[in-house]
Amino acid sequence: MQGLIAGAGIVGLTTALTLHKAGLKVRILEEALEIKELGVGLNLLPHSVKHLIDLGLGPALDSVAVRTGELRFFSEDGKAIWQEPRGLDAGYDVPQYSIHRGKLQALLKQAVVERMGAQSLVTDRRLLGFTEQGDSVNAEFSDHSGVVHKVSGDYLIGADGINSVVRQQLHPDQGSPHFAGLILWRGATFSHSFLTAKTMIMAGHADQKVVVYPISSPDSEGQQLINWVAEFRVPLETAHVDDWKGEGQLEEFAARFDSWQFSWLNVPVLFRQASRIYKFPMIDRDPLDRWSFGRVTLAGDAAHAMFPNGSNGASQGILDAVCIAEQLSSQREVVPAFKAFEEIRRPATTRLILDNRNTGPERVLQLIKDRCPGTCGSEHTCVPAGELEDIARAYKKLAGFARSDVNEKTSG
Ligand SMILES: Cc1cc2nc3c(=O)[nH]c(=O)nc-3n(C[C@H](O)[C@H](O)[C@H](O)COP(=O)(O)OP(=O)(O)OC[C@H]3O[C@@H](n4cnc5c(N)ncnc54)[C@H](O)[C@@H]3O)c2cc1C
Repeated sequence: MQGLIAGAGIVGLTTALTLHKAGLKVRILEEALEIKELGVGLNLLPHSVKHLIDLGLGPALDSVAVRTGELRFFSEDGKAIWQEPRGLDAGYDVPQYSIHRGKLQALLKQAVVERMGAQSLVTDRRLLGFTEQGDSVNAEFSDHSGVVHKVSGDYLIGADGINSVVRQQLHPDQGSPHFAGLILWRGATFSHSFLTAKTMIMAGHADQKVVVYPISSPDSEGQQLINWVAEFRVPLETAHVDDWKGEGQLEEFAARFDSWQFSWLNVPVLFRQASRIYKFPMIDRDPLDRWSFGRVTLAGDAAHAMFPNGSNGASQGILDAVCIAEQLSSQREVVPAFKAFEEIRRPATTRLILDNRNTGPERVLQLIKDRCPGTCGSEHTCVPAGELEDIARAYKKLAGFARSDVNEKTSG
């Protein structure tokens, strides 16, 4: 059996590795001319890390990522709301990682090339469309000069991201992505460590927020690459470009955060020292009622693009990758395997897409904004800690990374 994967992002590459580990042959075709280290930071939650460790990628992750130790929430004036340990510090048997997306993609690509051979990953191939004929899928890809290449396989997995061509062909009436009304400016700044040097923070409320976390270990002078996201609400009809390569300008957002200078982190300085700023609208796609059509299925953002609340997107895609390989290797027949994959993963991710629209675990920020009478000291005491803890616990359960669920899972 020889499969095809469209897209060599985090999910396409991980899917190739899981299929290869299961003894199945697959090729990845990617539209980019070459895989460059694009993007800024993302988080890998323990349930997905467990699978990456199973793939033998633990040392590579440790060499480029930060083992996230805690998550803290603050109001816009820097008052503490809630904090919880994360990863190993929370008793998980594997870490949570904060990592540069480009570094993660590069290490996955290296593993694919080393284990499966360079010929298993073909760049400069943009999927145009596909047809199913008998027991095979015939796909057409174009290169940058417009030459069309016909490629056939026993199946096709669309791991081609939020603007997936595979999804568009399967669901031609899906329409545009769904816009939250928030614009995100993102960057990474080489700067002094803050708090524990492995802390992730979120500050603000539903209409204006920052998320900050380090994505490299401190150097000898205590400097780290610090990932940041600044977001605020704009009118829904605001024009936006849903392209990860979109450039942002400091003048568009930074002044709104001028007063966000906390004793432990100077947010405006972080923004001003970034060498490059990306701009991206907060978009997702409506949950689908079907992913698998015969020998074609969807995975990762192509299947379930979600708002980044909860820091879950890449992790959920990695769970897809593992599930596809488990189903294909156990069932050996593509059509029932893809059906079973969808039955397991679609309901789980549908719930998350919807919960993230309600800001996921980050709803504690707005809760404080709505309920604080303004009399709290350096820490908010206006909402009982138990209520905040319940929100955090419920989200972990929903997203599949409650500690007991992760630690129970055996490796292998
Ligand atoms: C350039 C880029 C930068 C990003 N930066 C960040 C970031 O800083 N932080 C963050 O949290 N998330 C980022 N993301 C999104 C994040 O990677 C995903 O949300 C998550 O990892 C799920 O990955 P995915 O593989 O499903 O999708 P993606 O990571 O989007 O990967 C999809 C892949 O498919 C390729 N592709 C698209 N269309 C076609 C086609 N027609 N034919 C062939 N190949 C195709 C794309 O080039 C890409 O390599 C970024 C995505 C991209 C593409």
